[in-house]
Amino acid sequence: MKNESGSRLALLDRDGTINKEVNLLHDIRQLQLLEGAAEGIRLLNQNGFKVAIVTNQPVVARGLCSEDDVKKVNVLLLELLEKEGAKVDAVYYCPHHPEQGHSGANDPKYRKICDCRKPKPGMLITASKDFGIAKENCFMVGDHDRDIEGGKNFGCTTIFVKTGQIDSESKLNTKPDHVSKNLLEAAKLMVSLPMSDMKNVKAVIVAGGLGTRLGHHTRNVPKPMILVRGKPVLEHIIIHLKKYGITEIILCVGYLGEKIQAYFGDGAKFGVKIFYCFEKELLGTGGAIKQAEKFLDPNETFAMVYGDLLLEMDLEKLIKYHKEKCGLGTLTVHKSSHPYDSDILELAPDGRIIKFLGKPKKGDVFENISNAGVYCFEPSILKYFPDGVSMLDKEVLPSVIVRGGKLFAYKTNEHIHDMGTMDRLEKVRK
Ligand SMILES: [Mg+2]
Ligand SMILES: [Zn+2]
Repeated sequence: MKNESGSRLALLDRDGTINKEVNLLHDIRQLQLLEGAAEGIRLLNQNGFKVAIVTNQPVVARGLCSEDDVKKVNVLLLELLEKEGAKVDAVYYCPHHPEQGHSGANDPKYRKICDCRKPKPGMLITASKDFGIAKENCFMVGDHDRDIEGGKNFGCTTIFVKTGQIDSESKLNTKPDHVSKNLLEAAKLMVSLPMSDMKNVKAVIVAGGLGTRLGHHTRNVPKPMILVRGKPVLEHIIIHLKKYGITEIILCVGYLGEKIQAYFGDGAKFGVKIFYCFEKELLGTGGAIKQAEKFLDPNETFAMVYGDLLLEMDLEKLIKYHKEKCGLGTLTVHKSSHPYDSDILELAPDGRIIKFLGKPKKGDVFENISNAGVYCFEPSILKYFPDGVSMLDKEVLPSVIVRGGKLFAYKTNEHIHDMGTMDRLEKVRK
Protein backbone atom coordinates (compact mmCIF):
# COMPACT_ATOMS: atom_id res chain seq x y z
CA MET A 1 0.00 0.00 0.00
CA LYS A 2 1.36 3.39 -0.96
CA ASN A 3 0.97 5.77 1.90
CA GLU A 4 0.29 9.14 0.38
CA SER A 5 -0.32 11.15 3.47
CA GLY A 6 -1.78 14.52 2.71
CA SER A 7 -3.14 13.59 -0.71
CA ARG A 8 -6.65 13.00 -1.91
CA LEU A 9 -8.24 10.56 -4.30
CA ALA A 10 -10.68 11.36 -7.11
CA LEU A 11 -12.76 8.33 -8.08
CA LEU A 12 -14.17 8.97 -11.51
CA ASP A 13 -16.89 7.14 -13.33
CA ARG A 14 -15.94 6.55 -16.96
CA ASP A 15 -18.85 6.69 -19.44
CA GLY A 16 -20.79 9.95 -19.26
CA THR A 17 -18.18 11.47 -16.94
CA ILE A 18 -14.88 11.31 -18.85
CA ASN A 19 -16.01 10.11 -22.26
CA LYS A 20 -19.26 10.53 -24.11
CA GLU A 21 -22.03 8.23 -22.99
CA VAL A 22 -22.83 5.72 -25.70
CA ASN A 23 -25.23 3.07 -24.60
CA LEU A 24 -23.06 0.12 -23.54
CA LEU A 25 -19.82 1.31 -25.09
CA HIS A 26 -17.71 -1.65 -26.18
CA ASP A 27 -15.98 -0.53 -29.34
CA ILE A 28 -12.98 1.81 -29.31
CA ARG A 29 -14.35 3.66 -32.34
CA GLN A 30 -17.14 4.97 -30.10
CA LEU A 31 -14.71 6.58 -27.69
CA GLN A 32 -14.80 10.36 -27.47
CA LEU A 33 -13.60 12.60 -24.62
CA LEU A 34 -16.11 14.97 -23.06
CA GLU A 35 -15.37 18.66 -22.97
CA GLY A 36 -13.37 19.64 -19.90
CA ALA A 37 -12.56 16.02 -18.95
CA ALA A 38 -8.84 16.10 -19.75
CA GLU A 39 -8.51 19.60 -18.34
CA GLY A 40 -10.26 18.54 -15.13
CA ILE A 41 -8.00 15.53 -14.63
CA ARG A 42 -4.95 17.70 -15.33
CA LEU A 43 -6.08 20.13 -12.64
CA LEU A 44 -6.41 17.23 -10.18
CA ASN A 45 -2.90 16.00 -11.10
CA GLN A 46 -1.46 19.45 -10.53
CA ASN A 47 -3.04 19.67 -7.10
CA GLY A 48 -1.66 16.38 -5.80
CA PHE A 49 -4.82 14.32 -6.25
CA LYS A 50 -4.61 10.65 -7.20
CA VAL A 51 -7.04 9.82 -9.98
CA ALA A 52 -8.73 6.45 -10.42
CA ILE A 53 -11.46 5.37 -12.80
CA VAL A 54 -14.17 3.15 -11.31
CA THR A 55 -16.50 1.85 -13.98
CA ASN A 56 -19.27 -0.73 -14.33
CA GLN A 57 -18.80 -2.67 -17.57
CA PRO A 58 -21.77 -5.03 -17.86
CA VAL A 59 -20.99 -5.24 -21.59
CA VAL A 60 -18.88 -8.26 -20.71
CA ALA A 61 -21.64 -10.08 -18.84
CA ARG A 62 -24.03 -9.17 -21.61
CA GLY A 63 -21.84 -10.81 -24.18
CA LEU A 64 -21.28 -7.63 -26.18
CA CYS A 65 -17.54 -7.92 -25.88
CA SER A 66 -14.78 -9.66 -23.98
CA GLU A 67 -13.00 -8.46 -20.88
CA ASP A 68 -9.97 -7.83 -23.13
CA ASP A 69 -12.06 -5.45 -25.24
CA VAL A 70 -12.89 -3.48 -22.08
CA LYS A 71 -9.19 -3.30 -21.26
CA LYS A 72 -8.47 -2.05 -24.79
CA VAL A 73 -11.02 0.73 -24.46
CA ASN A 74 -9.47 1.69 -21.12
CA VAL A 75 -5.96 1.77 -22.57
CA LEU A 76 -7.09 3.94 -25.46
CA LEU A 77 -8.94 6.28 -23.10
CA LEU A 78 -5.81 6.70 -20.98
CA GLU A 79 -3.81 7.43 -24.14
CA LEU A 80 -6.28 10.06 -25.28
CA LEU A 81 -6.07 11.71 -21.87
CA GLU A 82 -2.30 11.49 -21.74
CA LYS A 83 -2.06 13.33 -25.06
CA GLU A 84 -3.85 16.17 -23.28
CA GLY A 85 -1.42 16.00 -20.36
CA ALA A 86 -3.90 14.28 -18.03
CA LYS A 87 -2.79 11.25 -16.01
CA VAL A 88 -5.02 8.53 -14.59
CA ASP A 89 -3.27 6.52 -11.87
CA ALA A 90 -5.44 3.39 -11.93
CA VAL A 91 -8.51 1.87 -13.55
CA TYR A 92 -10.97 -0.40 -11.77
CA TYR A 93 -13.83 -2.01 -13.64
CA CYS A 94 -16.61 -4.44 -12.85
CA PRO A 95 -17.37 -6.86 -15.71
CA HIS A 96 -20.30 -8.46 -13.90
CA HIS A 97 -24.05 -8.18 -14.17
CA PRO A 98 -26.52 -9.95 -11.91
CA GLU A 99 -29.33 -10.58 -14.40
CA GLN A 100 -29.81 -13.84 -16.20
CA GLY A 101 -31.60 -13.84 -19.48
CA HIS A 102 -29.67 -11.27 -21.49
CA SER A 103 -29.24 -12.23 -25.07
CA GLY A 104 -25.71 -12.94 -26.19
CA ALA A 105 -24.28 -15.79 -24.24
CA ASN A 106 -21.15 -15.21 -22.28
CA ASP A 107 -19.14 -16.88 -19.62
CA PRO A 108 -21.48 -17.45 -16.66
CA LYS A 109 -18.73 -16.34 -14.30
CA TYR A 110 -19.70 -12.75 -15.20
CA ARG A 111 -23.39 -13.27 -14.50
CA LYS A 112 -23.40 -12.95 -10.79
CA ILE A 113 -24.07 -10.70 -7.88
CA CYS A 114 -20.68 -9.21 -7.08
CA ASP A 115 -19.33 -6.70 -4.59
CA CYS A 116 -17.83 -4.41 -7.20
CA ARG A 117 -20.76 -3.30 -9.34
CA LYS A 118 -21.76 0.23 -8.30
CA PRO A 119 -23.79 1.13 -6.24
CA LYS A 120 -21.80 -1.46 -4.27
CA PRO A 121 -18.67 0.22 -2.94
CA GLY A 122 -16.22 -2.62 -3.75
CA MET A 123 -14.10 -0.82 -6.35
CA LEU A 124 -14.02 2.35 -4.26
CA ILE A 125 -12.88 0.47 -1.18
CA THR A 126 -10.13 -1.29 -3.17
CA ALA A 127 -8.90 1.97 -4.69
CA SER A 128 -8.86 3.70 -1.32
CA LYS A 129 -6.80 0.83 0.13
CA ASP A 130 -4.43 0.70 -2.85
CA PHE A 131 -3.61 4.37 -2.53
CA GLY A 132 -3.70 4.46 1.26
CA ILE A 133 -6.14 7.37 1.23
CA ALA A 134 -8.99 7.35 3.74
CA LYS A 135 -12.59 7.77 2.54
CA GLU A 136 -12.72 11.22 4.17
CA ASN A 137 -10.25 12.33 1.50
CA CYS A 138 -11.99 10.57 -1.41
CA PHE A 139 -14.48 11.96 -3.92
CA MET A 140 -16.79 9.99 -6.19
CA VAL A 141 -17.71 11.78 -9.40
CA GLY A 142 -20.32 10.37 -11.78
CA ASP A 143 -23.29 10.97 -14.01
CA HIS A 144 -25.63 8.33 -12.60
CA ASP A 145 -27.51 7.36 -9.45
CA ARG A 146 -25.30 4.29 -9.18
CA ASP A 147 -22.20 6.50 -8.86
CA ILE A 148 -23.70 8.74 -6.21
CA GLU A 149 -25.10 5.79 -4.27
CA GLY A 150 -21.76 3.99 -4.62
CA GLY A 151 -19.99 7.00 -3.14
CA LYS A 152 -22.51 7.20 -0.30
CA ASN A 153 -22.21 3.48 0.42
CA PHE A 154 -18.45 3.92 0.59
CA GLY A 155 -18.75 7.07 2.71
CA CYS A 156 -16.92 9.64 0.59
CA THR A 157 -17.96 13.00 -0.83
CA THR A 158 -20.12 12.68 -3.95
CA ILE A 159 -20.30 14.94 -7.01
CA PHE A 160 -22.86 14.59 -9.76
CA VAL A 161 -21.87 15.78 -13.25
CA LYS A 162 -24.51 16.63 -15.84
CA THR A 163 -22.64 15.21 -18.81
CA GLY A 164 -24.21 11.77 -19.03
CA GLN A 165 -27.58 10.05 -19.28
CA ILE A 166 -29.12 12.13 -16.52
CA ASP A 167 -28.91 15.83 -17.24
CA SER A 168 -30.41 17.21 -14.05
CA GLU A 169 -29.96 16.43 -10.37
CA SER A 170 -33.73 16.60 -9.94
CA LYS A 171 -33.96 13.30 -11.82
CA LEU A 172 -31.66 11.55 -9.37
CA ASN A 173 -33.04 9.31 -6.64
CA THR A 174 -30.11 10.12 -4.37
CA LYS A 175 -29.02 13.59 -3.44
CA PRO A 176 -25.35 14.15 -4.21
CA ASP A 177 -23.18 16.36 -1.98
CA HIS A 178 -22.38 18.60 -4.93
CA VAL A 179 -23.49 19.16 -8.51
CA SER A 180 -21.14 20.29 -11.28
CA LYS A 181 -21.65 21.02 -14.95
CA ASN A 182 -18.82 18.74 -16.04
CA LEU A 183 -15.62 17.12 -14.83
CA LEU A 184 -13.62 20.34 -15.07
CA GLU A 185 -16.05 22.15 -12.77
CA ALA A 186 -16.06 19.15 -10.43
CA ALA A 187 -12.25 19.22 -10.34
CA LYS A 188 -12.22 22.93 -9.51
CA LEU A 189 -14.61 22.21 -6.67
CA MET A 190 -12.54 19.29 -5.32
CA VAL A 191 -9.38 21.37 -5.39
CA SER A 192 -11.06 24.18 -3.49
CA LEU A 193 -12.63 22.04 -0.75
CA PRO A 194 -10.70 21.83 2.51
CA MET A 195 -8.92 18.60 3.35
CA SER A 196 -10.82 16.54 5.90
CA ASP A 197 -8.45 17.27 8.78
CA MET A 198 -8.72 20.97 8.00
CA LYS A 199 -12.50 21.11 8.03
CA ASN A 200 -13.67 23.65 10.59
CA VAL A 201 -10.12 24.63 11.56
CA LYS A 202 -9.92 28.36 12.18
CA ALA A 203 -6.75 30.34 12.62
CA VAL A 204 -5.82 33.06 15.06
CA ILE A 205 -3.13 35.45 13.92
CA VAL A 206 -1.51 37.51 16.65
CA ALA A 207 -0.57 40.71 14.90
CA GLY A 208 -0.63 43.32 17.62
CA GLY A 209 3.04 43.75 18.51
CA LEU A 210 4.76 47.10 18.45
CA GLY A 211 7.70 45.88 16.40
CA THR A 212 9.98 48.27 18.23
CA ARG A 213 13.05 46.35 17.14
CA LEU A 214 12.30 47.20 13.54
CA GLY A 215 12.99 50.89 14.08
CA HIS A 216 11.82 53.18 11.32
CA HIS A 217 10.09 50.32 9.47
CA THR A 218 7.31 50.26 12.03
CA ARG A 219 6.98 53.96 12.74
CA ASN A 220 3.87 54.36 10.62
CA VAL A 221 3.31 50.79 9.51
CA PRO A 222 2.36 47.92 11.81
CA LYS A 223 4.83 45.03 11.60
CA PRO A 224 2.45 42.62 9.80
CA MET A 225 2.03 45.23 7.03
CA ILE A 226 5.72 45.47 6.16
CA LEU A 227 6.16 44.56 2.53
CA VAL A 228 7.99 41.42 1.58
CA ARG A 229 8.15 40.57 -2.10
CA GLY A 230 5.53 43.18 -2.90
CA LYS A 231 2.94 42.09 -0.30
CA PRO A 232 2.40 42.68 3.40
CA VAL A 233 3.80 39.73 5.33
CA LEU A 234 0.32 39.17 6.77
CA GLU A 235 -1.08 38.71 3.27
CA HIS A 236 1.48 35.96 2.64
CA ILE A 237 0.24 34.24 5.81
CA ILE A 238 -3.43 34.54 4.83
CA ILE A 239 -2.74 33.14 1.35
CA HIS A 240 -0.88 30.25 2.95
CA LEU A 241 -3.72 29.48 5.38
CA LYS A 242 -6.23 29.56 2.57
CA LYS A 243 -4.13 27.13 0.53
CA TYR A 244 -4.68 24.62 3.33
CA GLY A 245 -8.40 25.25 3.49
CA ILE A 246 -8.35 27.57 6.52
CA THR A 247 -10.74 30.32 5.53
CA GLU A 248 -11.93 31.70 8.86
CA ILE A 249 -9.29 33.88 10.40
CA ILE A 250 -9.30 35.88 13.60
CA LEU A 251 -6.87 38.78 13.53
CA CYS A 252 -5.74 40.05 16.90
CA VAL A 253 -4.56 43.57 16.24
CA GLY A 254 -3.32 46.38 18.38
CA TYR A 255 -0.74 48.94 17.35
CA LEU A 256 -1.96 50.61 14.11
CA GLY A 257 -4.56 47.85 13.82
CA GLU A 258 -6.88 50.10 11.87
CA LYS A 259 -4.34 50.11 9.02
CA ILE A 260 -4.51 46.34 8.94
CA GLN A 261 -8.30 46.41 8.91
CA ALA A 262 -8.34 49.03 6.17
CA TYR A 263 -6.24 46.78 3.97
CA PHE A 264 -7.83 43.36 4.62
CA GLY A 265 -11.41 44.37 5.36
CA ASP A 266 -13.69 41.37 5.87
CA GLY A 267 -11.30 39.17 3.90
CA ALA A 268 -13.61 38.69 0.90
CA LYS A 269 -10.97 40.04 -1.47
CA PHE A 270 -8.65 37.25 -0.34
CA GLY A 271 -11.27 34.50 -0.35
CA VAL A 272 -11.41 34.27 3.44
CA LYS A 273 -13.52 35.55 6.33
CA ILE A 274 -11.69 37.80 8.77
CA PHE A 275 -12.83 38.68 12.29
CA TYR A 276 -11.03 41.37 14.26
CA CYS A 277 -10.08 41.55 17.90
CA PHE A 278 -8.79 44.98 18.82
CA GLU A 279 -6.58 45.33 21.86
CA LYS A 280 -7.52 48.57 23.49
CA GLU A 281 -4.51 48.30 25.75
CA LEU A 282 -1.55 45.95 25.29
CA LEU A 283 -2.64 42.50 26.42
CA GLY A 284 0.42 40.48 25.49
CA THR A 285 0.28 37.45 23.20
CA GLY A 286 -1.66 35.33 25.69
CA GLY A 287 -4.17 38.07 26.41
CA ALA A 288 -4.71 38.59 22.69
CA ILE A 289 -5.55 34.92 22.14
CA LYS A 290 -7.84 34.86 25.16
CA GLN A 291 -9.76 37.77 23.60
CA ALA A 292 -10.20 35.76 20.39
CA GLU A 293 -12.04 33.01 22.29
CA LYS A 294 -15.45 34.44 21.43
CA PHE A 295 -14.82 33.75 17.72
CA LEU A 296 -13.65 30.17 18.26
CA ASP A 297 -15.73 27.03 18.21
CA PRO A 298 -15.56 25.37 21.66
CA ASN A 299 -15.12 21.95 20.03
CA GLU A 300 -12.75 22.64 17.16
CA THR A 301 -8.99 22.61 16.96
CA PHE A 302 -7.54 25.94 15.93
CA ALA A 303 -4.24 27.07 14.49
CA MET A 304 -2.32 30.05 15.77
CA VAL A 305 0.49 31.93 14.15
CA TYR A 306 2.38 35.15 14.75
CA GLY A 307 1.77 37.86 12.19
CA ASP A 308 5.43 38.44 11.42
CA LEU A 309 6.25 35.00 10.02
CA LEU A 310 6.85 33.86 6.50
CA LEU A 311 5.94 30.20 6.42
CA GLU A 312 6.03 27.56 3.77
CA MET A 313 5.14 24.64 6.00
CA ASP A 314 2.54 21.96 5.36
CA LEU A 315 -0.19 22.91 7.82
CA GLU A 316 -2.20 19.77 7.22
CA LYS A 317 0.69 17.65 8.50
CA LEU A 318 0.95 19.79 11.61
CA ILE A 319 -2.75 19.41 12.35
CA LYS A 320 -2.66 15.67 11.68
CA TYR A 321 0.27 15.31 14.08
CA HIS A 322 -1.52 17.40 16.68
CA LYS A 323 -4.67 15.26 16.44
CA GLU A 324 -2.67 12.03 16.70
CA LYS A 325 -0.88 13.22 19.82
CA CYS A 326 -4.10 14.31 21.55
CA GLY A 327 -2.41 17.04 23.58
CA LEU A 328 -3.83 20.41 24.47
CA GLY A 329 -1.47 22.02 22.04
CA THR A 330 1.33 21.46 19.56
CA LEU A 331 4.17 23.85 18.95
CA THR A 332 6.12 23.79 15.72
CA VAL A 333 9.84 23.65 16.50
CA HIS A 334 12.90 23.93 14.33
CA LYS A 335 16.59 24.64 14.44
CA SER A 336 16.67 28.38 14.77
CA SER A 337 19.09 30.49 12.78
CA HIS A 338 19.30 32.75 15.86
CA PRO A 339 18.99 30.39 18.86
CA TYR A 340 20.17 32.98 21.39
CA ASP A 341 17.12 35.06 20.55
CA SER A 342 14.72 32.10 20.51
CA ASP A 343 12.68 30.16 23.02
CA ILE A 344 14.38 26.81 23.50
CA LEU A 345 12.41 23.72 24.50
CA GLU A 346 13.30 20.48 26.22
CA LEU A 347 11.52 17.44 24.77
CA ALA A 348 10.81 13.86 25.80
CA PRO A 349 11.55 11.16 23.20
CA ASP A 350 7.86 11.01 22.23
CA GLY A 351 7.84 14.72 21.40
CA ARG A 352 6.16 15.83 24.58
CA ILE A 353 7.42 19.18 25.86
CA ILE A 354 9.06 18.80 29.27
CA LYS A 355 10.21 22.32 29.86
CA PHE A 356 10.40 25.79 28.41
CA LEU A 357 14.00 26.87 28.79
CA GLY A 358 13.51 30.40 27.48
CA LYS A 359 16.27 32.28 25.72
CA PRO A 360 19.66 30.70 26.39
CA LYS A 361 22.57 32.70 27.76
CA LYS A 362 26.02 32.64 26.21
CA GLY A 363 27.83 29.58 27.47
CA ASP A 364 24.64 27.57 28.14
CA VAL A 365 24.64 24.05 26.78
CA PHE A 366 21.38 23.36 24.93
CA GLU A 367 19.96 21.58 21.96
CA ASN A 368 18.74 23.98 19.28
CA ILE A 369 15.04 23.13 19.43
CA SER A 370 13.34 26.48 19.05
CA ASN A 371 9.75 27.50 19.09
CA ALA A 372 8.95 28.56 15.51
CA GLY A 373 5.75 30.49 16.27
CA VAL A 374 3.20 28.22 14.54
CA TYR A 375 0.82 26.40 16.87
CA CYS A 376 -2.18 24.15 16.98
CA PHE A 377 -4.47 24.23 20.01
CA GLU A 378 -7.53 22.57 21.44
CA PRO A 379 -9.99 25.19 22.63
CA SER A 380 -9.91 23.68 26.14
CA ILE A 381 -6.42 25.14 26.55
CA LEU A 382 -8.01 28.58 26.84
CA LYS A 383 -8.99 27.91 30.45
CA TYR A 384 -5.28 28.14 31.29
CA PHE A 385 -5.18 31.68 29.90
CA PRO A 386 -5.76 34.32 32.59
CA ASP A 387 -7.95 37.32 31.83
CA GLY A 388 -6.03 40.46 31.04
CA VAL A 389 -2.35 40.66 30.27
CA SER A 390 -0.31 37.48 29.73
CA MET A 391 2.50 36.21 27.57
CA LEU A 392 1.87 32.98 25.68
CA ASP A 393 5.36 31.52 25.50
CA LYS A 394 6.80 32.87 28.72
CA GLU A 395 3.84 32.37 31.08
CA VAL A 396 0.81 30.58 29.74
CA LEU A 397 2.34 27.54 28.05
CA PRO A 398 4.88 26.85 30.83
CA SER A 399 2.00 27.00 33.32
CA VAL A 400 0.03 24.47 31.24
CA ILE A 401 2.88 21.99 31.72
CA VAL A 402 3.32 22.75 35.40
CA ARG A 403 -0.40 22.10 35.88
CA GLY A 404 -0.18 18.74 34.10
CA GLY A 405 -1.47 19.67 30.63
CA LYS A 406 0.19 17.94 27.70
CA LEU A 407 1.93 19.92 24.98
CA PHE A 408 3.83 18.41 22.08
CA ALA A 409 6.45 19.64 19.68
CA TYR A 410 6.25 19.12 15.93
CA LYS A 411 9.71 19.16 14.37
CA THR A 412 10.14 20.44 10.88
CA ASN A 413 12.85 21.85 8.66
CA GLU A 414 10.39 23.60 6.34
CA HIS A 415 10.87 27.34 5.90
CA ILE A 416 9.52 29.45 8.74
CA HIS A 417 11.19 32.82 9.04
CA ASP A 418 10.41 35.59 11.42
CA MET A 419 11.27 39.19 10.78
CA GLY A 420 11.44 40.35 14.36
CA THR A 421 14.66 42.31 13.92
CA MET A 422 16.17 44.48 11.18
CA ASP A 423 18.67 41.76 10.25
CA ARG A 424 16.03 39.13 9.89
CA LEU A 425 13.75 41.45 7.95
CA GLU A 426 16.55 42.07 5.45
CA LYS A 427 16.99 38.29 5.13
CA VAL A 428 13.34 37.51 4.36
CA ARG A 429 13.18 40.38 1.90
CA LYS A 430 15.88 38.80 -0.24
MG1 LIG B 1 -21.65 6.83 -16.28
ZN1 LIG C 1 -18.44 -6.77 -10.25
